Order: sequence, then structure tokens, then C-alpha cells
Amino acid sequence: MSIKSNIEYVNELKNAAAEKSGRTGEDVLLVAVTKLHSPEEINEAIDAGVTDIGENKVQEILDKYDKVKPVRWHLIGHLQTNKVKYIIDKVCLIHSVDSLHLAKEIDKRAAQHDLTMDILVQVNSAEEESKFGVTTEETDQLIEDIAQQCPNVRIKGLMCIAPFEENPDDAKPYFAQVKKIYDKYAAKKTDRIDFSYLSMGMTNDFEAAIEEGSNLIRVGTAIFGYRDYRSEEK
Ligand SMILES: *Cc1c(COP(=O)(O)O)cnc(C)c1O
Repeated sequence: MSIKSNIEYVNELKNAAAEKSGRTGEDVLLVAVTKLHSPEEINEAIDAGVTDIGENKVQEILDKYDKVKPVRWHLIGHLQTNKVKYIIDKVCLIHSVDSLHLAKEIDKRAAQHDLTMDILVQVNSAEEESKFGVTTEETDQLIEDIAQQCPNVRIKGLMCIAPFEENPDDAKPYFAQVKKIYDKYAAKKTDRIDFSYLSMGMTNDFEAAIEEGSNLIRVGTAIFGYRDYRSEEK
């Protein structure tokens, strides 16, 4: 399967899932997750229509940035405070904000570049020890604190990584919890809290996530193949 046909297939599933939830495929943004994949592969995806790509490591963004065609870059993985300065002028959205400390550093660097940085608050609704993110109980406080203390940060929504489930429908309750918080803020937009992205769903569970209201999916494996076995497959 080529990258192009994989993207077509993902888009078909995305469209079908969106229709199930009373929307169209255009209401759901596909972010192609390109970690551990080469600039050549990424450019192939861009040629096939991908407009947004996601990386989970700052170093990979820096390594590939000049080799990849114009595209919107998303930082989707855990971000260390000391690395914010390297990507502040390169990414359009940081999906993984889970502390006021990190938000303040983003705010400081954004101010230095005279820009407003769009971020998502990462919610660990299943409260898995292995994952980053705030609990659903902590989410309101973090949103209020960022909105009050970080003038160069705009909170655009929420991000969630659900537990891996053999049957992705089993992840739906975790998505639903985050959707509920999303809806609350989407209904009361301010200039700092301006929700329009609910980032939920990966290769294994993006259809379930869309059915629960996600409007941004982060898909890697279904587009580029398995990361670990990639070199063997070729
Ligand atoms: C790797 C990654 C993805 C994509 O995972 P796939 O299972 O390959 O689709 C999505 N979100 C985050 C935060 C990731 O690190």
C-alpha cells in the first residue's frame, strides 16, 4: 500500500465515522503523525493532500523542518520547558500542555516572538500512570489559570490519549468525558479560551473517537506503516 492510498483509506473511514455522529469528514481534521518517518515520506503525504503533520519530539521537528514542504506542524508529545524556545515559531498548535509551569514558559517565549501560541490542554481521563495530562478534575483549574496568567497563550481545546483497547469502543467512555468538558468551554468563548479543537483518536481508535465527537485525529501507523518494522517492510 502506498502512503497516498493509505491516506485515502483513512479519509474514507474518517468520513464514515463523522457521518455516524451527524457531521461530515470535513469537520474532522487529519493530522498525519510523522515521528520516525523521513522527510521524503512526509513530502509524499503532503503531495497526497495532507495539510497538517504531528511530531512528538522537538528534535525531530528541528531535524526535518527545512526538508519538508510547507505544512502546518503540530507538537503532540510531551514538551519539556527548556525546549519550548526551539519550536515556538515553528508549530501552529501544541497539543500537550498539562501544567501552568509549561504554559508560562510558552507564554514567555511567545511574547518574545510577538505572537500568540495556540495550545490544547492534555487530559488523561483514564488517569493512567504512564501517561501525561491532567485529570478531568484538574482541567478547569488549569484552563482558568492559563487564561488568567498567560496573555500570549490561547487555549484552543483539549487533547486526550485513550488507553489502548483491543476493542476501541471500550475507549469511548474516556473520550466522552473529555468531550463533556470541551462542550462546556466551546459554549463560552473568550479571546483567551477559544475552543475549536478536540484532539482525540489515533490509528487504533480514531473512528470511536470521532463517533464521540473528536474533530482532530492524530494518525501515524495507518498512513506510514508500523514504525518499528518500517525498514524491514521495504
Ligand atoms: C505516535 C502518536 C500518535 C499516532 O499513533 P498511531 O497509533 O501511529 O496512529 C498520536 N498521538 C500521539 C501523541 C503520538 O505520540
